[in-house]
Amino acid sequence: ELFVVGSLNMDLTVQVTRLPGRGETVAGAAVVRAAGGKGANQAVAAARLGARVRLVGQVGDDALGRELLAAVAREGVDVSGVRQAPADTGVAMIVVEDGGENMITIARGANGLVRPTDLDLTGADALLLQLEIPVDACLSAARQARAHGVPVILNAAPYAHGLDELLPLVDLLIVNEGEAAALCGGTDTAALIALGPRAAVVTLGERGARGQDAAGACQVPSFPVPAVDAVGAGDTFCAQLALSYAAGLPLVQAVRRACAAGALATTGHGAQTAMPTGDQVERLFAR
Ligand code: ADP
Repeated sequence: ELFVVGSLNMDLTVQVTRLPGRGETVAGAAVVRAAGGKGANQAVAAARLGARVRLVGQVGDDALGRELLAAVAREGVDVSGVRQAPADTGVAMIVVEDGGENMITIARGANGLVRPTDLDLTGADALLLQLEIPVDACLSAARQARAHGVPVILNAAPYAHGLDELLPLVDLLIVNEGEAAALCGGTDTAALIALGPRAAVVTLGERGARGQDAAGACQVPSFPVPAVDAVGAGDTFCAQLALSYAAGLPLVQAVRRACAAGALATTGHGAQTAMPTGDQVERLFAR
């Protein structure tokens, strides 16, 4: 079973013909609600890929929180570890211009109050973390996982500082180019490993990904697909990589599978709607 400790947001999206400027009001059509947040997205991606997944986090004790929980549960994720806290549900306000340019504001609400003490890690094959909950919460979860011999996988997104204590507890670090640059000044996996994790993977968008662990370094090209929207590709990549890594695949093979899953996520619009099944990944992989 994959344990995800992370964020849940309700994404509220309005499509407009042109993004507003400062102080300006622009009218759009309907507001579209969708479950989001990196924790929920990666948990749903892993469930779609066929894994048993438990999500630990917090929503508010409000209507958006209940809707969000139900949406994630419908995808087959065990949400019994998601608390309804006396706080507001995390919300991402998204304005998308025709053509794809967007503006996003996040109010992290209940996600900012996550305190994962006493995690029941019975049956956990791996712990997957992101940085949309406080770094202290990640640190606490990582310490508990290590005490239980459960591998710790960190997707250090969005970039946050103050990771000095966390990174040495990490078995596998996953970042994109921007996060890698913020962490170590470049996209060199050796420089990332020098910060403490046992293995590191950098995603390179349509150029694929590179990785490094004790066995050596690898560079994996992306799978050519008719990409329409890269939203959700990173989260899907992380979910597949976490599952393959936890299953004991050599890093290069795990990264190849993750690239196949990430590529498929770009072939449809939105984050969770475009996430592939395990069969779809196998088919692309076997081509
Ligand atoms: P993020 O969205 O987090 O910045 P990336 O853009 O690096 O992440 O994408 C994550 C992974 O998704 C890449 O490593 C790659 O495997 C896959 N991917 C992203 N864009 C494409 C694309 N246009 N074609 C094929 N695969 C892609």
